[in-house]
Amino acid sequence: MNSSVTGRNEVGRSEVGRIEVITGPMFSGKSEELIRRLKRARIARQRVVCFKPDIDLRYHRTAIASHSAQTHEAMTVANVARLREALYEQLPEVEVIGIDEAQFFDESIVHLVGELVHMGKRILIAGLDTTFTGDPFGPIPALMAISDEVTKLSAVCIVCGAPAIHTQRLGASRELVVVGAAGVYEARCRACFRPYLNAPENEQMELPDALDLSVTP
Ligand code: ADP
Ligand code: MG
Ligand code: ZN
Repeated sequence: MNSSVTGRNEVGRSEVGRIEVITGPMFSGKSEELIRRLKRARIARQRVVCFKPDIDLRYHRTAIASHSAQTHEAMTVANVARLREALYEQLPEVEVIGIDEAQFFDESIVHLVGELVHMGKRILIAGLDTTFTGDPFGPIPALMAISDEVTKLSAVCIVCGAPAIHTQRLGASRELVVVGAAGVYEARCRACFRPYLNAPENEQMELPDALDLSVTP
């Protein structure tokens, strides 16, 4: 049997998988770094698949993209259950699994990633570590905790030029997910970050239900 099916190599030892988390605020280069690692894996002739959540709950093939216009083919999935289905169809051949915008998946992604790493897979996860209120974002903190390696990137603060760890929401929109981020969010350092700009504190602190993409239609 193929070693990637059993998760064991030729001498019968368990193949050791690996979890790598790439995190930081918007514009910090998470997608760019994910794309770079996926491309290098393909150069090494490893079989690579990539996923991202579909925030509009559609299901189609597309790509992940960085703000610097680099892209990599990816499958868009509505939730973790759909990601699992799509992945398990091709799992024996797959060696490297990329997941972009992982903050939008629910906590069950943590269990799935745990399963995959025990099968010897390398899982590359990119996602925001904090929301626009500066709070930990969805499953990313838990994924960081179980990972082998965390790369925390910073962006450039649009106000002062310092390294930015925060995502500043501009304007008064209360939608959790605003498609087309340009002009809606910008990177800010700790000193320039204004989490409660244009909204009452109690409203901004809520994490809306729209975040929960776990519902299986
Ligand atoms: P992320 O996935 O973390 O949102 P991307 O990989 O999509 O980031 O984009 C990173 C690119 O965004 C940078 O290489 C740069 O070209 C561009 N960029 C735009 N605004 C900023 C900023 N404030 N700080 C750093 N890079 C920025
Ligand atoms: Mg990105
Ligand atoms: Zn600043």
